[in-house]
Amino acid sequence: MADKRDYYEVLGVPKDADDAAIKKAYRQLAKKYHPDMNPGDKEAEIKFKEASEAYAVLSDAEKRRQYDQFGHAAFEGGAGGAGAGGFDFDFGDMGDIFGDLFGGMFGGGSRRNSNGPRRGADVRVNVRITFDESVRGTTKKIDVTLKDECSSCHGTGAKPGTSPETCSKCGGRGQVTFTQQSFLGMVRSQQPCPDCHGTGKIIKEKCPDCYGTGYISSKKTIEVNIPAGIDNGQCVRIQGKGEPGVNGGPRGDLLVAVIISASTEFERDGYNIFSNVVISYPTAVLGGEIKVKTVDGEVLYEVKPGTASGTRVRLKGKGMPSVRNAAQRGDHYITLIVDIPTKLNQEQKDALMAYEKALTGNERHSKKKGFFGK
Ligand SMILES: [Zn+2]
Ligand SMILES: [Zn+2]
Repeated sequence: MADKRDYYEVLGVPKDADDAAIKKAYRQLAKKYHPDMNPGDKEAEIKFKEASEAYAVLSDAEKRRQYDQFGHAAFEGGAGGAGAGGFDFDFGDMGDIFGDLFGGMFGGGSRRNSNGPRRGADVRVNVRITFDESVRGTTKKIDVTLKDECSSCHGTGAKPGTSPETCSKCGGRGQVTFTQQSFLGMVRSQQPCPDCHGTGKIIKEKCPDCYGTGYISSKKTIEVNIPAGIDNGQCVRIQGKGEPGVNGGPRGDLLVAVIISASTEFERDGYNIFSNVVISYPTAVLGGEIKVKTVDGEVLYEVKPGTASGTRVRLKGKGMPSVRNAAQRGDHYITLIVDIPTKLNQEQKDALMAYEKALTGNERHSKKKGFFGK
């Protein structure tokens, strides 16, 4: 995750670049590194994929917002066994971008057959949990609105007893061919048919139950197991709870993005936890046992004599559990802050002055009367 380049850097655009600038930057990179232009060049292929991934995220307003907020973590769940998934970069989806950018200039420009089975889209929802829940893992019930195939028309959208007719404009292919001007000259490209919207079918009489959509939406409560150690912005993937597939394709997935409320005591960076612990001046000088709050509760820590304020010490294995393997844990770093008292009574002041005299041999003039007080 750490060595993954920033998407803005990949495209060479500023963080506030508008859609046109992002598109332009990607168009130039894609033209330069496209595999068709660089046969057998592995490095060009990697660059091309990197740019395409950056573009896929930054050209989508919702994905871009998440990326700006969470960085790459927005798309990398990284929790294999626990059912959490990552950002699936589906190269097949790039067909839409190429259709848009290049109009079918490259070999891969033709769209997938609209009549074939297609996987349903993923649905993204957020769930908020506490810092404590992120340490231990938790189960949450979330309400989602899911589409299901309409039982009256079995998803065709046509009134029961009738069936959809083949679109005459595209002959049922769902696509029509256009010839258009591109930056490389005239190219032929395929576009979804405007009459049937790419379905290849025309519904004359709509199903009254689903208004011709073929789907019925209903609220469902879904239980999500959130693994211990999950970080802010990571997603848990629940297979088959997304949008229904088309033409018998599988359902998409439900992606549950986990938002973790900040802790008042602990800060987290990766699997390590950081906190401040205030110690008294005598403890800093003489050393001594203190209680330290960790995510496991209080533990005892032996402060070394002569500890300076700001000293950072490590409590090994007291950090966050790994989402992959809860037995593996990060560390907890505590910063010891020496409490310098500001309000002392006379007895305490005398004790400190006696201490200073013992240390330096010099007597300190009492300031209790003030400079002009004499
Ligand atoms: Zn229906
Ligand atoms: Zn059509």
